[in-house]
Amino acid sequence: MKKTLILQAPAKINIGLWVKHKRADGFHELASIMQTISLADTVTLKEIGEPGIHIFCDHPDVPLDSTNLVHRAATIFLEKFSIEPRLAINIDKKIPVAAGLAGGSTDAAAVFAGLARMYDKPITIPDLMAMAAHIGSDVPFVLHGGLALAEGRGEILKFYEPPRPPLAVVIAVPVGVKVSTRWAYENYVPGNNQVKEEAFSRILEFFRHRDLDSLRRVIFNDLESVTLHRHPEVEKIKQLLASTGEGVVLMSGSGPSVFGLFHDRKSAIRAVKALHGEPVNVFIEHIARKNLQ
Ligand code: ATP
Repeated sequence: MKKTLILQAPAKINIGLWVKHKRADGFHELASIMQTISLADTVTLKEIGEPGIHIFCDHPDVPLDSTNLVHRAATIFLEKFSIEPRLAINIDKKIPVAAGLAGGSTDAAAVFAGLARMYDKPITIPDLMAMAAHIGSDVPFVLHGGLALAEGRGEILKFYEPPRPPLAVVIAVPVGVKVSTRWAYENYVPGNNQVKEEAFSRILEFFRHRDLDSLRRVIFNDLESVTLHRHPEVEKIKQLLASTGEGVVLMSGSGPSVFGLFHDRKSAIRAVKALHGEPVNVFIEHIARKNLQ
């Protein structure tokens, strides 16, 4: 009988992003605290009779050809196990595209996890993680999910228990602002790493203890210096979302998404009121304990 699997593919936010320096291989050495959130795409895998990998998604910015990360993930997996591709992949896109929320990476991670289940392949977690790293540096994290300190290019991961009870998260995505991750890194000018090390070392502890007042004082995302300079509207969204004084507000990844952490949904809703009338898409979510799959 032909199988169908329905998978949840959650987004991530960066609770702090420290870009240390550019390495000899051209990548940047990073430190970031990554946290899964409840905002998720739904990825459906279906075995079909027709040969090939067929992608369906009605979001205009998501490619349907072999450049889609789900296509690349399925190809790597099926080749490894010499399985002839006869697969339909449907992506119900809820995560804003090219927004710094790892939308493509999490879809790819869902495909790896789903195919391992669909074809009942005895594959170890480290093997799965290694395959995931071929697609992009965020993919190993989103495959596992939860809370992690990510180092190296983002692929060296140390996992932690996320804070409890879960913090509320507001995601605010300015409409019409496009940021290329590559552009942001290429234009980043490194700052004083000694000062940053001191601040960064405290972020995880304050976040895990839900100590938002202390977290607000140390949290930073180095790529804000690039993205906010080019797109002042992102800075404005940050200021508005922070205006109740209750949240911790930061840009995620290379942007343009801005997130706010709040103790509860009520304070998140109060903060969102300040965004009324702005050209921004808003989601009120919460941090998630692990990948929802
Ligand atoms: P990151 O936070 O990992 O840097 P992002 O959230 O900024 O990623 P994505 O949503 O993954 O960015 O999209 C980046 C580009 O990748 C899009 O412009 C799109 O053309 C392409 N892409 C390929 N596969 C997908 C997918 N499954 N979903 C969304 N975009 C995809």
